[in-house]
Amino acid sequence: MPLRIVIVGGGPTGTAIAHNLASWKTADNEKPVEVFVYERYPAATIYTPSSNHSRAYVIALNYRGQSALRRLQIVPENITNAVVADAVVTHRPPKKKTTQLTPPHVRPLEDKYRQVIAKRQDMTSYFEQLAEKSGATLHHEHELVDVDWKQKIATFRHRGLIHKVGYDLLIGADGTKSVVRTLLDQHCQTEQPRKGFSPSFRVEATECDRMEYQVAVIPQPGSEILGSVWKNDTKQLKRKRPLIQDTDVHSWNSKKYNAMCLAFPIQQSVKTTNNTHNPLGLLFAVIFPGGMLEAFRQQAKQNGKVVQSDQSYEAALESLLHDVPKHVRSDIIDQLKGGDFANGGNCVRALCQ
Ligand SMILES: Cc1cc2nc3c(=O)[nH]c(=O)nc-3n(C[C@H](O)[C@H](O)[C@H](O)COP(=O)(O)OP(=O)(O)OC[C@H]3O[C@@H](n4cnc5c(N)ncnc54)[C@H](O)[C@@H]3O)c2cc1C
Repeated sequence: MPLRIVIVGGGPTGTAIAHNLASWKTADNEKPVEVFVYERYPAATIYTPSSNHSRAYVIALNYRGQSALRRLQIVPENITNAVVADAVVTHRPPKKKTTQLTPPHVRPLEDKYRQVIAKRQDMTSYFEQLAEKSGATLHHEHELVDVDWKQKIATFRHRGLIHKVGYDLLIGADGTKSVVRTLLDQHCQTEQPRKGFSPSFRVEATECDRMEYQVAVIPQPGSEILGSVWKNDTKQLKRKRPLIQDTDVHSWNSKKYNAMCLAFPIQQSVKTTNNTHNPLGLLFAVIFPGGMLEAFRQQAKQNGKVVQSDQSYEAALESLLHDVPKHVRSDIIDQLKGGDFANGGNCVRALCQ
């Protein structure tokens, strides 16, 4: 009998592992495992978050992330709409007592350290397809609500109905607020001590990422958005490459707001009458300390469209994105006002004895 593996969570990790496990074969070409993925949301292939929804954020895979995927037999560059970035452009605030802009610093990335950038949605949907091709079964809109650790039965809620699933091995790939981890922790704290056993698994909170993220997508590439600001830079002539290229990653920071913004090149699918082409755009991920984005939003509601206070998106983004043309900044602000927040969640350490 093949080992029955149930993976909870069909995000990038759950679907990538499912693809790898479901590809296993014995020397006799038999499948030693059966793999099932249970995800609480609809399939990434069909679920389309609006461009400024937190689930639309991009994942920039560094060398470590790319190596991990290669070990699972996934080629990161093949992820749908992936862009390979080979330089990071750091935008520096104007020097004190002058309004003159300081040219950004360009750091080219060596081949090994190039970043592969893809929208989380595209990445997950690509891994879903690989997992299914390898023979894994994916169940969407199934939320894990309970686990019977002794009987090895996981309970899912599916469209209001309860669905019980037996397993030989349960894998929790359900993100930073993992329900699998919480249930296992509760089980070890309550069940085992009562019977005289010491817990074999314990979760300790180490830190909590209180920063909040929001995203906005601008359909023009980096050279168009920032090219007009930097095209007259005289030093550019001495450089080996144009100051701003479309596949660059950009970063800005503001000490005043303890905030940062990263802009990633993304491919956008544009359907024309004849074909589909993928021009590059930029996805701006703005990151502020927890609570600040909500404060900006409240200000915007109270004061109408234009808010002069320091506690507003307008003032904060003017400080942060100082060299981004005003009309682009206004577009970003409009998207942020209507978008959702995401945060990094809790960092925990799982202690197994
Ligand atoms: C704004 C933002 C930007 C980021 N940028 C980067 C980056 O640039 N580079 C990078 O490497 N990482 C980045 N990360 C981190 C990256 O998103 C995570 O490392 C990655 O998503 C982890 O994938 P995962 O599948 O483990 O978890 P998740 O992506 O969290 O997926 C977990 C899945 O489990 C499902 N789930 C949860 N609970 C249940 C349940 N009870 N039952 C069933 N299903 C459940 C969820 O719906 C979800 O689909 C970023 C994160 C955020 C929030």
